[in-house]
Amino acid sequence: MARVVIIGAGIAGLSAAIHAVSDGHHVVVLEKKSKIGGRGTSQNVDGFSLHYGPHLFDKSGPFYKMCRKLSRIKPAIKSMRLDKIEVAGFGPIRPVGNIKQAALNKQAIRAKQLGNPYFESVKFLSSWGVDENEGRIKSVLKSKLSVSNEGWIGLIGRLGAALDEVGVLIETHCEVTAIKGQQVILKDGRQVECDAIILACGIGGTRRILQTVDENMTENNFANVKTTFASSIEVGLSSKPMAGKQCIVDYEKNAAIIDYTAIQPRLGIVGSHLSAIMTGGTDEGRLERLESFLDKQVSGWKKHIVTDLRQSKIVVGYSNCMDYDLFSKHRILLAGPWIKSNYLLSDAAAETGKQAAKGLKLLT
Ligand SMILES: Cc1cc2nc3c(=O)[nH]c(=O)nc-3n(C[C@H](O)[C@H](O)[C@H](O)COP(=O)(O)OP(=O)(O)OC[C@H]3O[C@@H](n4cnc5c(N)ncnc54)[C@H](O)[C@@H]3O)c2cc1C
Repeated sequence: MARVVIIGAGIAGLSAAIHAVSDGHHVVVLEKKSKIGGRGTSQNVDGFSLHYGPHLFDKSGPFYKMCRKLSRIKPAIKSMRLDKIEVAGFGPIRPVGNIKQAALNKQAIRAKQLGNPYFESVKFLSSWGVDENEGRIKSVLKSKLSVSNEGWIGLIGRLGAALDEVGVLIETHCEVTAIKGQQVILKDGRQVECDAIILACGIGGTRRILQTVDENMTENNFANVKTTFASSIEVGLSSKPMAGKQCIVDYEKNAAIIDYTAIQPRLGIVGSHLSAIMTGGTDEGRLERLESFLDKQVSGWKKHIVTDLRQSKIVVGYSNCMDYDLFSKHRILLAGPWIKSNYLLSDAAAETGKQAAKGLKLLT
């Protein structure tokens, strides 16, 4: 059994904690913010559970499977339907009453026909433009991309509750600034001694902390990782301007709008909850371009806003990822979607958290 400090209580850190504790390690999680969940959290405002941009989970991916396994009561979830996903300028992926077109679209997606609007749209929807991922493309086709009526905060809460039950301490308001040998140094001057450390505090946070361990090695390895940025607009409306469509996607603009209430009517919202995202391109003006996209696709949305949350620049994903055990000689392992795995987004966070926890046995 090792004394393990996990830095960061996002999906990667929570996953690492769950797997490390179940392997018998003594685990402490340190989180700089006041609440857990990182980018995968949501906040309840005026009856709407607002996220950092649209969040769809893969029912067959490691993140949801972990939430499901740890839950006594199954989360109520609902998946997106192909007949309700509209490819802007072309129509639904599975047009109702047009079997021939529906079959052609499916064929083009399965054959990964480059330039085909349906394939390109599914590709974007499955990864938000981060990287092509076979598993998630299949999940769109099999209607496995889902939302929960608890929002992501509910799923994250299930992970937090599972850790609480087994006595894992998650200390919030604890910002880690450095690592010196086996000591984790906090901003308030406290020091925590341990046998192993899992850094799960996002790529920026990890880079800053690792610079205090080995600056050259950190810079050499982090320089290659490619980051995809996004802008997002989450908005609670008193009307239903999407008229039953669950999603509108425009692959040429790298943009999509989701209506959570059309996917999961049990959210109990009278109007609608739209979540729009645009990724890639230049950061300048992307939020404005996303707003224009909303204006064009969902006319009149601005007149019915109850509440909204906007992000002009947020990291959505990574490519050219690195190995989780690069710093293992310092008894440090890494977790997050910027670490090599077969998954993307929250699934990569969950999977690499598990990978780091399992890697502890190599250090102890
Ligand atoms: C706009 C957007 C849309 C997305 N859509 C989807 C989607 O549809 N489907 C999907 O599966 N995924 C989606 N994702 C991805 C998913 O949200 C992330 O992959 C996942 O939340 C990353 O988890 P993480 O734990 O690696 O990092 P983070 O969530 O960034 O967590 C890191 C944690 O570490 C803490 N921390 C940082 N520095 C320190 C420090 N020095 N000391 C202590 N704590 C620290 C932070 O406060 C944070 O809580 C989306 C992300 C974005 C931004």
